[in-house]
Amino acid sequence: TAPSVLAALIGQGIGPSLTPPLHELEGQRHGLRSIYRRIEFHAEQDGPADLARLLDFARRTGFDGLNITYPAKQTVLPLLDELAPSAQMIGAVNTVVFDGERAIGHNTDVTGFRASLDDALGGTGCGRVVLVGAGGAGSAVAHALVMRGVQSLTVVDVDAERAAAVCHSVQESHGFTAASAHPEDLPALTAAAEGIVNATPFGMAHHPGAPFSAELITDRHWVADVVYRPVDTVLLQAARKAGALATPGTGMAMHQAADAFEIFTGRTADRSAMLADLNAL
Ligand code: NAD
Repeated sequence: TAPSVLAALIGQGIGPSLTPPLHELEGQRHGLRSIYRRIEFHAEQDGPADLARLLDFARRTGFDGLNITYPAKQTVLPLLDELAPSAQMIGAVNTVVFDGERAIGHNTDVTGFRASLDDALGGTGCGRVVLVGAGGAGSAVAHALVMRGVQSLTVVDVDAERAAAVCHSVQESHGFTAASAHPEDLPALTAAAEGIVNATPFGMAHHPGAPFSAELITDRHWVADVVYRPVDTVLLQAARKAGALATPGTGMAMHQAADAFEIFTGRTADRSAMLADLNAL
């Protein structure tokens, strides 16, 4: 029989996630029998003991690995035997790989956003960056930006505590001092920046529009969105119209899945084919 890869996504409300088909299609390209399941995990009714049981069963059933999303990315930390540097720096895990009895945590949101920036900017530096949104995705973006050598980073969130927590996290992990700011500071901040990243849910169907006035974008900027459904968000449309470089969230979504596939299988993912799959799904 052909070799196989067996994995699953654990999280809440993951029905629409495109990660399962992305993994299955990539596995098939490698001639693998490829099965990727969804396991619903609810914040209100499931706790750390349930997650521990799921991990144990997955390992004993022969799963190669798991992806973990909201609300379990931090709950899973104490259940693991080892953390890769990507997970350690951010204090959150989105990928677990089983190595015999051991469960090892990685964070491919961090590596995935970094890879998408490499695609967009090539050898060019990030410059001074304003990051809008300091939730789970924003935190991954902040660490990726610092790892890529951002010149300065300002984290903006309507919730000041969240912005401060992301700054604290990059200080602790990298010794990098980022600033936190309020949305009303955005005109001055964007005027003094080269890069702008949206890591709020604005742009998705149920959060229509942009998180800030698109008039702040000029042709000096590069603009990255983490939202990838729709691919062409209101923000990216405005960025393109202003003559800015516009980077869709599909890059991060594809690279996080490709990095996880490589961790699960030890094979090299075909990233352009995965991006084509994502755009076609
Ligand atoms: P989250 O709820 O944890 O964080 C969103 C943050 O944005 C919150 O802290 C909120 O206070 C802040 N915010 C909302 N409106 C704002 C505004 N107008 N100005 C400033 N801050 C504002 O959500 P999350 O899990 O970080 O996800 C955010 C988005 O990222 C979602 O749309 C999700 O689909 C997307 N995402 C994409 C990828 C990818 O691979 N491309 C990966 C993860 C998440």
